[in-house]
Amino acid sequence: MDIRVTRLTAAFFLPVLGLLMLIGAFVAFTAHWSAGETDAESIQRETTLVRRLLDQRIADVTRNQQTSTTWDDAVNVVIDAQDPDWLDANLGIWMHVYFGIDRVFILDGEDHSIYAMIGGSRSRPDSYFSHAGLLEPIATQLRQLRTAAASLDEAPTFVRRYVLLENRPAVVSAAAILSDTGNISQVAGEEPVHLAVEFLDGPFLAKLAADFLIQKPRFSWTGRIGDHEAAFPLAANGADLGYLVWTVQQPGTKVFDRMMPILVAAGMVILLLAGLLLFRLYRTTSKLISSQRQIEYMAHHDPLTGLANRFAFETRLGDRIREFEQTRRSFAVLYLDLDRFKDVNDTLGHQAGDELIRQVAGRLASLVRQEDMVARLGGDEFAVLRDSVADRAEIEILSRRIVDAIQNPFEMAKQQVIIGISIGVAIAFRDTLTQMDLVRRADVALYRVKNSGRGGYAIFEERMERPTSRKLVRA
Ligand code: GH3
Ligand code: MG
Repeated sequence: MDIRVTRLTAAFFLPVLGLLMLIGAFVAFTAHWSAGETDAESIQRETTLVRRLLDQRIADVTRNQQTSTTWDDAVNVVIDAQDPDWLDANLGIWMHVYFGIDRVFILDGEDHSIYAMIGGSRSRPDSYFSHAGLLEPIATQLRQLRTAAASLDEAPTFVRRYVLLENRPAVVSAAAILSDTGNISQVAGEEPVHLAVEFLDGPFLAKLAADFLIQKPRFSWTGRIGDHEAAFPLAANGADLGYLVWTVQQPGTKVFDRMMPILVAAGMVILLLAGLLLFRLYRTTSKLISSQRQIEYMAHHDPLTGLANRFAFETRLGDRIREFEQTRRSFAVLYLDLDRFKDVNDTLGHQAGDELIRQVAGRLASLVRQEDMVARLGGDEFAVLRDSVADRAEIEILSRRIVDAIQNPFEMAKQQVIIGISIGVAIAFRDTLTQMDLVRRADVALYRVKNSGRGGYAIFEERMERPTSRKLVRA
């Protein structure tokens, strides 16, 4: 992995990934939040519904009860006749059959039990005694309220309360048995009392479930509820008698649960696409950067030998001259040219010539220091920039070593090749020279070597400046 490409890709991808994750988190949070809100609203609605159904149900107990208890005939029978068959048919068993009332007790004006119906059958009136502790206070309350009322019209006709009867939640409605016509005179608070009991578990809960789609209704003493349940207390005289508990519908959660896999899948697809994008981005950037590097490399290197090219050499030389002007640290420029290289081309072919140039480049590179530069200027011309020079002798040794090294035979594919090299050197010691001067001096020295038989080196001296005139003199 290319560190530059990786960094570039990361710089692009991390914000995108961050943004995607932020959007994902936002969508998930919003979906979860709105599911919760929807559920809460639904629970509120169901609670209101269940409470209303319960209120209606217990109001019905009294309403059903009073269809018979506010009736002259009932007053008469209770006071005078005490006809059990008539009571069965109008105030007792009949109420069980038609209205589902579970227990009926009738008390006379002095709270003596005169009739009892239990679960649809007539029972002995004294079966009331086992419940008197629970029921009589209700009858007493009704009598007190009626006695205290300013007028008969304003007197309440019933009292209703939740109770625990036989350890079951129930509603008790105590109704005064009253004349419907007003033809029978009664003393407020001293009327017979009809007690109707209806249990709120069992059939009542089954009806909630069947008619109103309330799920799994149940009674709980503690009010402890499960994960998907709601409850509200049944209270009497300030004490909780237990709780009506049911399983709530959670439309929000249901939608959320259904939506979640789709959201997750969509998120994964988006991440996958982002990953694909990242991969392509990485590949394109890699290609771009590597081709940019290739171009940079080609601009500074000779393709045949891999050495620095003329441009790189001249750039380096320029830098070194500027450094020299500051520090006066000596350096040298060596110009090298193979001797009679054309002959190699002519006799062995251009390809062999190329191979020889490559091998020469290898030998040159192995003869200089790390900080020196070997360059191929073109054709069979090379240059060395000796980064530091202690004295002239050092350069002579280096030049000699190069000449000797190149004179050693080269092993080519088909045969050995022997070639020579000529070197012209210009050293920057004390005087500041321009780049052109330095190069010219190395060139002049090289020319000098070529002219005097090749296969050697020359370090530039002032007297070399007039070779042509001397030649003319010689001629
Ligand atoms: P001298 O001793 O005077 O240097 O003679 P020379 O034969 O070496 O001739 P010169 O240096 O003037 O010419 C170099 C020749 O190298 C010229 C050309 O035919 C050949 N040449 C230039 N570039 C390449 C190259 O890339 N590959 C090969 N094989 N030959 C090249
Ligand atoms: Mg040559």
